[in-house]
Amino acid sequence: MSDSPDLTAFIAGLPKAELHVHHVGSASPRIVAELAARHPAAGVPSDPEELARYFTFTDFAHFVQIYLSVVDLIRNAEDVRLLTYEIARDMAHQSIRYAELTVTPYSSTKRGIPDGAFLEAIEDARVSAERELGVVLRWTFDIPGEAGLAAAEETTRIATEMAPEGLVSFGLGGPEIGVPRPQFKPYFDRAIATGLHSVPHAGETTGPGTVWDALTSLRAERIGHGTSAAQDPRLLEHLAERNIPLEVCPTSNIATRAVESLESHPIGEMVKAGVLVTINSDDPPMFGTDLNTEYAIAARLLGLDAPGIAALARNAVRASYMDDAGKARLSEEIDSHLAAWQREG
Ligand SMILES: [Zn+2]
Repeated sequence: MSDSPDLTAFIAGLPKAELHVHHVGSASPRIVAELAARHPAAGVPSDPEELARYFTFTDFAHFVQIYLSVVDLIRNAEDVRLLTYEIARDMAHQSIRYAELTVTPYSSTKRGIPDGAFLEAIEDARVSAERELGVVLRWTFDIPGEAGLAAAEETTRIATEMAPEGLVSFGLGGPEIGVPRPQFKPYFDRAIATGLHSVPHAGETTGPGTVWDALTSLRAERIGHGTSAAQDPRLLEHLAERNIPLEVCPTSNIATRAVESLESHPIGEMVKAGVLVTINSDDPPMFGTDLNTEYAIAARLLGLDAPGIAALARNAVRASYMDDAGKARLSEEIDSHLAAWQREG
């Protein structure tokens, strides 16, 4: 028997796609330090070490507090550009080659950043990130559900009428309790009519009924979280049959108490039912994680070896909205990383 292989190193170098990760929620202490230095009056520490302590995850209330303090630092288009480009840099360090980043334009336009300037900033960052860092970014524009139908209208207008080049899908985030999915049907209908994919959050903090609602009312093609789907075998069967992937974010599910503990996470039941499961990080620095850590957790929960982990990475490629050439390229990269690792092992 040889020594147990170092799956951590395998995961770190594994070329990956990420499908469920939020824009502001991806601001690492390093990025927040840069933003804080640009806006000293905001009172957020700009010393990276102090910030790292500030970020040390404690509980969900702490997450909300950090999130809001970062939101407060994004005051103009240059802040948006910096945030977006630096997120891509953090992704590059984790071998993330492609990401569908969930962006909430409404949060910025309501704070006075003009929609055109906002879109120009993210698009400029996207083009530079691809050229300079080798990270392909695409956008999911999501409705912040708690902000109601005015936010839905504004998000839909920006997505459908201004339609930036990197935009591929349309989402719905925020709390689920008290925010029924069906009310957003007209907005999703309009977004889908312009060719956008439907990728709402559902079944994270409410039961499987919300996932059914997302499927029937919002014509979801992929589900953000969908954790509670595991409570409904017929729903799991439906997701598997219709090839509707789930965007699973284990650490986030614990942080938000959607799931009690990693050991009781339903990812195993999802996989067993034949659902296409993808691994994602949601709001990584704020939950004290990153995509590599989420892959390691999934590998442990599912008992995977390197080929099994590579298969998870291929799931994300399949479930992504990359073009076919991009999918083929990234799948090949995953295969050669696995082959090289097996040769060395
Ligand atoms: Zn999310």
